[in-house]
Amino acid sequence: MSGRGLSSSRLPWAVGLLVLVGLCPHPCLPSTTQQVIPIAAEAKSVATPPTDSQQPASPVKRTTKVPILVYHHVSQTISEGSPGLRRLTVTAEVFAQQMQYLQDNGYHVITFSDVADFFENGKELPALPIIISFDDGWATQFEYALPSLEKYHYTATFFVVTDYIGRPGFISWPQLQTLLTDGMKIGSHSRSHPRLSKITDSAKLWDQIYDSKTILETQLETPVEEFAYPYGSYNAKAAELVKLAGYRAGRGCCSGIAHTSRDVFTLKAIMAPNDLEKFIEYIGGDRVRTARTEHSSILPQAGSQ
Ligand SMILES: [Zn+2]
Repeated sequence: MSGRGLSSSRLPWAVGLLVLVGLCPHPCLPSTTQQVIPIAAEAKSVATPPTDSQQPASPVKRTTKVPILVYHHVSQTISEGSPGLRRLTVTAEVFAQQMQYLQDNGYHVITFSDVADFFENGKELPALPIIISFDDGWATQFEYALPSLEKYHYTATFFVVTDYIGRPGFISWPQLQTLLTDGMKIGSHSRSHPRLSKITDSAKLWDQIYDSKTILETQLETPVEEFAYPYGSYNAKAAELVKLAGYRAGRGCCSGIAHTSRDVFTLKAIMAPNDLEKFIEYIGGDRVRTARTEHSSILPQAGSQ
């Protein structure tokens, strides 16, 4: 159902929109947003109901604490390879322990849509909310994390890089369909995993943010409403385009568990450690890793296809 009507003739207005945004320095973004709202609303109307985007920003400022876990590799045993790869790996056993801990301690696994509903409409969140997410679309996530997610009936969001889908070592389109059937969410992690804050060409930025969304929606026939910035790297322009592209939430990385209404397109997150004790510290907000993901060396090079 979703995705229809998005492809035809979208490029001219999209480029025009980006020129407007690109020409406008940050302080004038609100007025620019007002100029382009009818177009943005048209794009959003396919996958999501109308929001309050045609009105001034809600004066209601909300805050909440929601740990957003970020996983990369999930291995069968202790990982091999470079230190960088090991740092991004959680074993299936530790992952299962962490999921068990969430259940034993009263955590409620929610989704990015729940957070968006909270910020947009004040929809109440459960006690001890937490979000589980996976980046890059590694096949190990499907193989070793999905069984635990199914065991506890937890919904996780898998942020995939559209250019990588189906490559060796990465989740395939049929596996993405299986994830959806199992109640998981699919989000976009861009088309080719660049640092968006380094991209100055608005059309290229739009391609990474918007076209990845339409590719996923067309193939999977489901709305794609969450975007995760590669490397957690974003700037005001990228965050604005994530909003204009019709996403409901954007996720950065690695800087905490407290969020405000202004953060819905730049939500903070936690790199999940391969250690239960640290995991407990992090989701409790006692200590949060600030290290960025450094996995450029283990991902296919951009444009190498
Ligand atoms: Zn990534």
